[in-house]
Amino acid sequence: VEKIRAAEVEDRPLFSFEYFPPKTDEGVENLFERMEHMVSYGPSFCDITWGAGGSTADLTLDIANRMQNMVRVETMMHLTCTNMPVEKINRALDTIKANGIQNILALRGDPPHGQDKFVQVAGGFACALDLVQHIRDKYGDYFGITVAGYPEAHPDMIQGEEGASLEVYNNDLAYLKRKVDAGADLIITQLFYDIDIFLKFVNDCRQIGITCPIVPGIMPINNYKGFLRMTGFCKTKIPAEIKSALEPIKDNEEAVKAYGIHLGTEMCRKIIANGIKTLHLYTLNTEKSALAILMNLGLIDESKIPKSLPWRCPMNAPSR
Ligand code: FAD
Repeated sequence: VEKIRAAEVEDRPLFSFEYFPPKTDEGVENLFERMEHMVSYGPSFCDITWGAGGSTADLTLDIANRMQNMVRVETMMHLTCTNMPVEKINRALDTIKANGIQNILALRGDPPHGQDKFVQVAGGFACALDLVQHIRDKYGDYFGITVAGYPEAHPDMIQGEEGASLEVYNNDLAYLKRKVDAGADLIITQLFYDIDIFLKFVNDCRQIGITCPIVPGIMPINNYKGFLRMTGFCKTKIPAEIKSALEPIKDNEEAVKAYGIHLGTEMCRKIIANGIKTLHLYTLNTEKSALAILMNLGLIDESKIPKSLPWRCPMNAPSR
């Protein structure tokens, strides 16, 4: 948080990278190779997700430890309440504390695969607010606590195609404020593709007295089907111009990727121009799009990017 606040004051944009635990040992080793390369560009921190339903608990703890102590990047670990009685939560927090990790993204979590509703486990927590309170009560100020924010409201609260009603949106914001008041000191947002929605969300947070930094979660479009799946799952609004840019190129993977880089670059430019100085990139464990966006923004040194990579400068929208 101190780094982010300093960046805002000094007008110096920062960036961070999010990864998820791969399914195989080989995948884990590949991820570390990629991460070492990406970390050489100087992210302010990197984070590792906690698999749905706690499915990757041991692996997430192990990867977080390697990130902090072997890759030597400031690490944030995600932690969810799904299938986690308090003893297991404490074990995870004690482990990362012993490993020198000081940043946690406190989440309720999604239901495990195959279930459609979150169910509070016996002896566990019902929501992220409870987890934030628990971490502050038990560990004092040791951890920097981040929470999730939803510029379009949480998808569970959204009915139909029109997005959240004003009442739902306002309740969601009020609940976010409770998470911050309970001890969270940073908000990272759910992915979005409409910058105006994000900027309004930041403004609305400020209006109700949320003063901590709000970091936009940016997911570069890598692949058309994946983009539809994620935006469908999160009930994200897709601006008409993005739909019409993607429609004619949807079967051309390289063109979609190049458009994703172009769009990501433009989104980040607008965000930075509006005074928000930290960009959180959902890398989906790939490096090309995230690095290309940062290069286009002038935030990383182009000369360090291997010349063999053909995607080096996809500044312009692809030809259709
Ligand atoms: P909460 O903040 O507890 O609540 C979600 C919503 O429910 C709130 O926005 C609010 O609308 C409502 N709500 C809950 N409690 C109350 C209350 N007491 N009063 C009023 N309203 C309430 N999932 C994973 O499994 N692993 C991950 O690593 C992971 N990382 C994520 C990272 C980010 C940046 C984001 C945005 C999401 C991530 N998720 C992850 C998904 C997340 O777990 C889901 O969105 C989950 O459904 C909600 O988690 P939460 O922490 O936002 O929940």
